[in-house]
Amino acid sequence: MATVLIIGRPNVGKSTLFNRLVGGRRAIVDDLPGVTRDFTVGRVNWQQRTFQLVDTCGLFENPENIVEEKMKEVTLELLSEGDLILFVVDGRFGLTSADQVLADYLRKQRIEVIFVANKVENPESFYSNMGNEIFSLGFGDPIKISAAHGLNIDLLLDEIFERLETLGHSVHLESNDESELKIAIVGKPNAGKSSIFNWIVGSPRSLVTEVSGTTRDTVDETVEVDGIPITFIDTAGIRKKSKVKVMNVEYYSVMRAIDALERSDIMVMVIDSADGVGNQDQRIAGLAEKNGKATIAVFNKCDLVDERRRKALLRTFKQDLYFIDYSPVIFTSTLTGEGMDELIDSIKLVSKKIDLRLPTGLLNTILQRYSEGTPAPGKGKKRGKIYYGSQIASRPPIIMLNVNDPSLFSEPYLRGIRNTIRLNFDPFEGTPIFLKLRRKR
Ligand code: GDP
Ligand code: GDP
Repeated sequence: MATVLIIGRPNVGKSTLFNRLVGGRRAIVDDLPGVTRDFTVGRVNWQQRTFQLVDTCGLFENPENIVEEKMKEVTLELLSEGDLILFVVDGRFGLTSADQVLADYLRKQRIEVIFVANKVENPESFYSNMGNEIFSLGFGDPIKISAAHGLNIDLLLDEIFERLETLGHSVHLESNDESELKIAIVGKPNAGKSSIFNWIVGSPRSLVTEVSGTTRDTVDETVEVDGIPITFIDTAGIRKKSKVKVMNVEYYSVMRAIDALERSDIMVMVIDSADGVGNQDQRIAGLAEKNGKATIAVFNKCDLVDERRRKALLRTFKQDLYFIDYSPVIFTSTLTGEGMDELIDSIKLVSKKIDLRLPTGLLNTILQRYSEGTPAPGKGKKRGKIYYGSQIASRPPIIMLNVNDPSLFSEPYLRGIRNTIRLNFDPFEGTPIFLKLRRKR
């Protein structure tokens, strides 16, 4: 797996960027020889591609000294481990001599660098703030992002993957068996995950076929539902009650969910109807969306709530989980069995949708109709033009749009395209849709 290092003087926003990219999944590594300070390693998964990210944290606390001692031993070693470096500066308040020292060093080492200006919430005033100083570092025009507000992060990720691929690194996530359907049941402790799993397994529609322990404490179980093999990921986490202290149960359940999510195609997100949508649910749903995993939202324990509460839950779903508004929403009760068959049907439906291929002719008819009715925004006289589109991948569906100039297509416009695809044919119920733009002349 390719390794990307975040480097920059203190306070430029390295760890904020790290957290933004990794999204909570991290492992602390502190036993590498020669490294005295902790640095943080995490994995970035995006649109079925992956790399390892390292935040160098305090390694560059004292850049003036680095060149002499630290850089020679530790940093050199570390830098040589990296395939690509994100060199981060503060794009708001100008540069310091420390930035210059680091830049000189990186240039001399001839290391592959992506130059990033962080804290740019307002790109319009960037050059008037920074002047030509920014070019003095010798890395050209930076990618302007705001790690704190999530601006241009997609752009940065695209650039990272493009550079890694150009350098010959393989970035695509391998999945051992593409055809096998994998499902993660996630949710807060006590939401009813194990009850739901047991209900499905105990249903007359199901037949347990295989239990495979991949490691000591993750167990995946394959269940044939209506004859279709479905592997439930990390059922140990569902079956076994956590022995962890109560205070940390929620934290561990999130870590566990992220892990399961990573290995799955569909996430069944279980929410306790009495509790409603929580922050952790939002966070995990966001990760599912970002990582191209389909989602089914389940309000469990619906036997405990009345009709009014159900309506309120649907409203909060639209508000707090709007980014997975394509998900089926199901009310279930493992007590009365309400909604459980609907859930099984929904799993079957979404499992078909994630592998669906949109016929190119159909897709282009939709695209053409949409762009006739809603012309793409432009700059001056220049208007965005879509020549044609085609679906280049499934699980998750990725649609490549060949256009005259990608910079003319705003995110709201692309959202409009995604919505149109859904509205016209609802082909991808449950799954996010990714659009990629390619310049074509
Ligand atoms: P590090 O020392 O390089 O790891 O920097 P941190 O990630 O700890 O961030 C330093 C400070 O900058 C913190 O107060 C952050 O909240 C702030 N910060 C980080 N990213 C941004 C950003 O995109 N915009 C703004 N305005 N502040 C940011
Ligand atoms: P998990 O921690 O998410 O796996 O949750 P469990 O499946 O262990 O359920 C937690 C508690 O909620 C248990 O006491 C279950 O009996 C109860 N429970 C689960 N599903 C339902 C339901 O649909 N209705 C009601 N009233 N209680 C439920």
